[in-house]
Amino acid sequence: MNTASSASRTGHCLCGAVRYRVPYPFTGEIAHCHCSMCRRAAGAVAVTWFTVPNDELEMLGVPLEVYKSSAEAERGYCPTCHSPISFWSSKFPDTIDVTLATLDDPSEFAAEMNIWTESRLPWLKLDSHLPDREGDPDED
Ligand SMILES: [Zn+2]
Ligand SMILES: [Zn+2]
Repeated sequence: MNTASSASRTGHCLCGAVRYRVPYPFTGEIAHCHCSMCRRAAGAVAVTWFTVPNDELEMLGVPLEVYKSSAEAERGYCPTCHSPISFWSSKFPDTIDVTLATLDDPSEFAAEMNIWTESRLPWLKLDSHLPDREGDPDED
């Protein structure tokens, strides 16, 4: 059994060019985001993110391609296969969100809440027993 300081989890994009490592267990939140921008950026009905401090996301393989997706946010993706990997906002400059689905084994982790549920698709039942936040709780 690894000590907590050396335990980690790894993830990768669809083609495998982008790889990353993060410490485990995570200290941040895991949330299903229902905002329309995540939905469009991922081409998915919702996007599940886990949050880590910036310096805990260790990029391996090729660097992410990054684009500005709104006035305060940047999204990172694989330059080859375009899998969405990261989200960073100047509102929370010390942390970065990573797409849970790109972990090597996402089944190990479960979301703790739904965020931006004001934008949730009305027919989507996704972990509906979890607490709903109309926006992002960190913005309260
Ligand atoms: Zn890729
Ligand atoms: Zn979102």
